[in-house]
Amino acid sequence: MPPAASSPFATFAATADAIAGTTSKLAKRDLLAAYLRDLPAADVPVAATFFAGRPLPGAADKLGLGWVQLSEAVARASGAGDRELSQAYLRHSDVGDAALELLEHRRSQGQSLTMADVDHAFRAMSEAAGSAPRTELMTELLRRASPREARYLGKIAARELRIGLREGLLEEAIAAAFERPVADVRRALMLVAEPGETATLARENRLADAALHVGRPIRFMLATPVADAAEVVRRVGDEAWIEDKYDGIRCQLHLGPGTGGPRLFSRDLNEVTISFPEVAAAASRLDGELVLDGELVPFREGSVLDFASLQTRLGRVKPSPELVAAVPVVLIAFDLLHRDGRDALDAPLRERRAALEELALPDRTDGGLLYSHLATARGAAEVDAFFDDARARHNEGLMIKDPDSTYQPGRRGLGWLKLKRALATLDCVVVGVEWGHGKRRGVLSDYTFAVLAPDGESLLTIGKAYTGLTDAEITEMTQYFLAATVQDHGRYRAVTPEIVVEIAFDRIQRSARHRSGFALRFPRIVRIRTDKTPDQIDDLATVERLYQEQASGRILLATGAGGETERIAAVGSAEQGEAAQASGS
Ligand code: AMP
Repeated sequence: MPPAASSPFATFAATADAIAGTTSKLAKRDLLAAYLRDLPAADVPVAATFFAGRPLPGAADKLGLGWVQLSEAVARASGAGDRELSQAYLRHSDVGDAALELLEHRRSQGQSLTMADVDHAFRAMSEAAGSAPRTELMTELLRRASPREARYLGKIAARELRIGLREGLLEEAIAAAFERPVADVRRALMLVAEPGETATLARENRLADAALHVGRPIRFMLATPVADAAEVVRRVGDEAWIEDKYDGIRCQLHLGPGTGGPRLFSRDLNEVTISFPEVAAAASRLDGELVLDGELVPFREGSVLDFASLQTRLGRVKPSPELVAAVPVVLIAFDLLHRDGRDALDAPLRERRAALEELALPDRTDGGLLYSHLATARGAAEVDAFFDDARARHNEGLMIKDPDSTYQPGRRGLGWLKLKRALATLDCVVVGVEWGHGKRRGVLSDYTFAVLAPDGESLLTIGKAYTGLTDAEITEMTQYFLAATVQDHGRYRAVTPEIVVEIAFDRIQRSARHRSGFALRFPRIVRIRTDKTPDQIDDLATVERLYQEQASGRILLATGAGGETERIAAVGSAEQGEAAQASGS
């Protein structure tokens, strides 16, 4: 017998319902704090992890259950057919709420789930080989649950609770539950990157022990988009610390006595060491203990190759030596987060950069590690000139960093700004797709996409784009969207919001056509952001800010090169064709 019995999962579900049922932040915090305070010690990290909308600690996709498997489990546990399931999903846009509705009339099997039961079941899913046994385990769990519990099992497994509990409130609740300063909780969570572990540290009054663990990735600092050089100068003054913005894959390198060699982690905190053996080999020549932040880019003979060549590497988990030789990758380091037992996150960037340069990384060689290009720009004209230089070096644009800023894991602040192309782009999530016509007949080629609402959870549509993807990509995405369809309206299909796309456009306009209240003129998909999850897309506030910038005349109309203009023309005529078709029908 365990020393303290695990708390019923029903209490978790009831607390979550109560939190969802109030709009008062204070009330939400107090409900959660009271719940956490009364839990047996072993349940505290489990509950904090669940309340963060995560089934398990560690990498985000650990459960290995996509929407398809999840909905299959709900269907099997409830006996609902495809149609019933997709209609329930459409009514709620939430797997958990759909599960609640479908399971409501089923006789409960009367078994009471504990927090430990749910935690064990999620662990078993993450360890199961293949999606069939995982789906089976989820089905079992749903069968054992009451409808209200099933609702939260679905929400946790889908990694979105949607009860109006942002991370900041979770931190406040942990602080209130165990009577610790919220700043200490916040700092600990930044360093250990695990809400569960943070809650335990708070409970045991050990928040001061929180430290970055070499070998365990922490969340990456993010950047805020800016429209143009004039905005850069307005925000940072006449002197700007600028770096090239490399177009590759974000990567954290961890190396130390306990790591068993260099380890590389991607933005979603998954380990990718095996995919970049040449970078790992170069890193193994470094001494001591360190954590670096940087970007993996394809690189040959002193220059960056285009992103498309990196995509050939991304298709392989373990690349062949021939592929490594054909498309060599380097890690362009731009930050140092830890060195020989000392965390550097709280040190200003200028000190972190100096410590990074002390490592004397091998420069300008193929394969391995390089430094990001760093310069100081004085005035908007120089920012523009550096932007052009960065583009000439095949990079995406510029990063503008505040040399006094600390490293803020997982935060999108003003410490780092990003300037891409002549115009800003928006990261959006695809919520609907349409069958194309003409050359695109038989494939889902038109995407409707959305930005985040101010509540940080709901989605607001902002536009529709005829894809800028290759035929092969469109075919692949068609298969994907067919499986991810939640309602088939014939030509238009509503899909689960999972695919993040980066959208370029000419102007933002006010529009009643989309739920955001804005529309993008000539939107085009720059690329699918497989590295980003829907919670990392841009929000309405960013759209409003870019709209204001534009209204003040600061965003120029696209003056793109020939190729770009051609594509804009193609998109324009496709839209007109469609409008004609719509009015004719
Ligand atoms: P975005 O992916 O458009 O949100 O832009 C931010 C990303 O730019 C970061 O997450 C990095 O992956 C990438 N990046 C490229 N070069 C740099 C750099 N010098 N400093 C920081 N981030 C960079």
